[in-house]
Amino acid sequence: MDAFGKYKTVISARAADKKILKKSQDGGIVSAAYIYGLENNLLDGVIVADKEDEFKAVPKVATTPEEVLNAAGTKYTVCSNLSVLKNAIREYGCEKLGVVGTPCQVIATRKAIKYPVGFRHMPDKIALIVGIFCMENFPYNGMKTIVEEHCGVKIEDVAKLDIGKGKFWVYTKWGETKSIKLKETHPYEQIACHVCTDYTAELADISTGSVGSPDGWSSVFVRTAKGEEFINKMIDEGYLETKPIDEGKFGLGILEKLALLKKDKNAKEIEHRKEIGLPVPY
Ligand code: SF4
Repeated sequence: MDAFGKYKTVISARAADKKILKKSQDGGIVSAAYIYGLENNLLDGVIVADKEDEFKAVPKVATTPEEVLNAAGTKYTVCSNLSVLKNAIREYGCEKLGVVGTPCQVIATRKAIKYPVGFRHMPDKIALIVGIFCMENFPYNGMKTIVEEHCGVKIEDVAKLDIGKGKFWVYTKWGETKSIKLKETHPYEQIACHVCTDYTAELADISTGSVGSPDGWSSVFVRTAKGEEFINKMIDEGYLETKPIDEGKFGLGILEKLALLKKDKNAKEIEHRKEIGLPVPY
């Protein structure tokens, strides 16, 4: 089974700007790409998952590097990024839009480009699609329950959330760190995630996530000619530091293992749902 879909290269990378690294998740690739695009006129607006009080994720259109930095960091809850796609084009007048999303949102964006029913005048305005690795996601109340009831942290005290090394991590505004094993978070997952077989955002121009790279770095799949041109310009102009990805079991090996695990496990769930007559996504 093909683990990653089509790609041209895969590397480890991180933002060269320490300000971005400090505010972002892992290597800060999404923020660095957005900021590079906005500063160099390759993008004139980007869709971000901003956070409001109590760590609620809210989709917004950002048009400045400051707005991108304010929204940096993964929220680990559902954020309807695509709901502001039309606003970005019709109200903000974006002609070169950057879109970021989970693999399912990347698939939806590609579908909207290919079959623009209800999305007239939109396809040629999307300049870059960045996908985030995703094994599962949590509805807001599920995430809140994990944070408050399992980790004992009030949601308003959360500074940052993370998933890594088999655990869900909560960092508080007061410098404390709490964690629980990922297997304890499974009951709170969004149900649709159990029939999703895309881990590495196979239809994005660029896909990124922490798995497969050392702490503070991200793994980056460069998939399309557009994505390749964008990443190469970022490297040439000093926005990104890169190094070859570790091809061993803690690098590409673990990425492959997780991608195949998701495909295999969720393909079985799809078959099971077909057998008992429940709807499946294909
Ligand atoms: Fe979307 Fe799949 Fe991630 Fe769930 S697991 S949020 S369906 S990409």
